[in-house]
Amino acid sequence: MTTPARARYDAVIVGGGHNGLVCATYLARAGRSVLVLEAADRVGGAAVTREFAPGFQVSAGAHLLHLMPPALLNDLDLGAHGLKFAAHNLPTVALSADGQHLSMQAGGGSGARLSAADARAYTEWRRLMRQISGALHPLLNGAPPRLGTDAWSDRKSLMRLGWRIRRLGRRDMRELLRIGLMNVHDLLEDRFESPQLKGALALDAVLGTNYGPRSPGSVLSLLYRLAATGGTEVLSQPQGGLGALSAALGRAATAAGAEIHTAAPVERILVKDDRASGVALASGQQVLAPVVVSNADPKTTFLGLLGAEFLDAGFVRRITHLRTRGFTGKVHLALDRLPKFPGLDPESLRGRLLVAPDADYIERAYNHAKYNEYSAVPMLEVTVPSLSDPSLAPAGSHVVSIVVQYAPYELNEGWATGRQRFTDIVIDTLGAYAPGLRECVRASELLTPADIEREFRIHGGHWHHAEIAFDQFFMVRPVPGATQYETPLPGLFLCGAGCHPGGGVMGLAGRNAARQVMNRAA
Ligand SMILES: Cc1cc2nc3c(=O)[nH]c(=O)nc-3n(C[C@H](O)[C@H](O)[C@H](O)COP(=O)(O)OP(=O)(O)OC[C@H]3O[C@@H](n4cnc5c(N)ncnc54)[C@H](O)[C@@H]3O)c2cc1C
Repeated sequence: MTTPARARYDAVIVGGGHNGLVCATYLARAGRSVLVLEAADRVGGAAVTREFAPGFQVSAGAHLLHLMPPALLNDLDLGAHGLKFAAHNLPTVALSADGQHLSMQAGGGSGARLSAADARAYTEWRRLMRQISGALHPLLNGAPPRLGTDAWSDRKSLMRLGWRIRRLGRRDMRELLRIGLMNVHDLLEDRFESPQLKGALALDAVLGTNYGPRSPGSVLSLLYRLAATGGTEVLSQPQGGLGALSAALGRAATAAGAEIHTAAPVERILVKDDRASGVALASGQQVLAPVVVSNADPKTTFLGLLGAEFLDAGFVRRITHLRTRGFTGKVHLALDRLPKFPGLDPESLRGRLLVAPDADYIERAYNHAKYNEYSAVPMLEVTVPSLSDPSLAPAGSHVVSIVVQYAPYELNEGWATGRQRFTDIVIDTLGAYAPGLRECVRASELLTPADIEREFRIHGGHWHHAEIAFDQFFMVRPVPGATQYETPLPGLFLCGAGCHPGGGVMGLAGRNAARQVMNRAA
């Protein structure tokens, strides 16, 4: 680690994940002296690119960019900081073992098995989701209102929410109120015939969560995903993987005047006169600042870095009970050559491939994880990023990046025993759509939620730092007492996926937190 230039800053940010970097940029642009301290030897948190087999690079956590609003990307001017895209507007393809795949793009769905009724229903579904997510998107763009205060800003924010829902019109407003608390399985049963289409849409509702399609709240997580982009989700792959996005964010922060140090783990948040006063690094060095912003997850921040002794017992209980166990894993494959995927044209193969043949398949895959078993036939979200970005693999070889659901944090038989077996299951599950896949695999890597916890320092290894659920969402995220990016300890703020609006490579938590810090200082 290099030594920070000063002993005192206006703000210290603990963690250089993408949200920490976005927060740093906005604070620095506002003229604050900002220091970012990242424990890993590179910035990006769970949005990084690294080698997993000699010559093979992969986006080790997040592998698709689709949630960061274009307005934020433009405002950060990431193109000027070196961000280039290897692929943009990727299609989503629901795989079928008989090669009759279903393709979904902005224009609608297509595939031999898609009935005329489903094609119409899918077009109407997209319209409705665009409407609802367009109405909800502004909620993600600012601090959520606080409940039970007399402040005009909170009242105005609640009124605006009501107005946005009212403006949907009678039909869509009723539909939102009807479906908001439903499970996605029932909702899809209402609207579609095709098991393949229902499987693909259910996957979006449960990816990264501890839900199956029949779990209450699974529609909420779908709406959340769609709301991030106002219903116009575009799937992209930065050239050089998601790590290239983080590197560009790092350069944007530096250009704005922030100072970033990697390999600089923070050991403790310092407290003086009942407020945050800086941080102590693992190296023993101390840096003082009246504002400390934590990009680390809430449990790490409050129970690890701050300490329960500075918090009241009720708050500590809420943080302790926050649901932070991940159920999502990642498998990376280094392939000597790419096997054929019967029925897939080259353009589709570059897209997002889903193994979720129907919603019941997903529910069955989920059942195992509830009992600390891995799924015998898991649900997969697959990309082959080296098709669009050959720099990721040696010539003629390929990288396959697979988000795999469901992998429990704790496995009954222990991950040391189950690791290879589960990796083989994932390879064989995908192999059902690409005969001969196994023979092409030169090396593989499995990241379980426990590995994700270790590698990315996310307590519990959860994609969102804390489950997206009604009791951990919006006005109560992560817990009452720490909403609006503020915490019970004056001077200590949160800016990571654990606060509103949650995880995914979106950047809004970081930007909203910076605004809140500036509001408080104003
Ligand atoms: C397997 C997997 C696949 C995913 N796929 C996608 C995807 O395709 N698309 C998508 O949009 N999202 C995806 N996500 C979610 C997304 O990656 C995360 O929600 C997002 O990266 C969180 O960003 P963050 O900046 O809030 O936190 P993080 O990325 O977790 O960053 C927090 C940072 O804080 C640092 N830190 C923690 N403690 C300390 C300390 N004591 N001192 C210093 N630094 C510290 C960490 O090292 C880390 O760099 C995926 C997540 C996982 C796990």
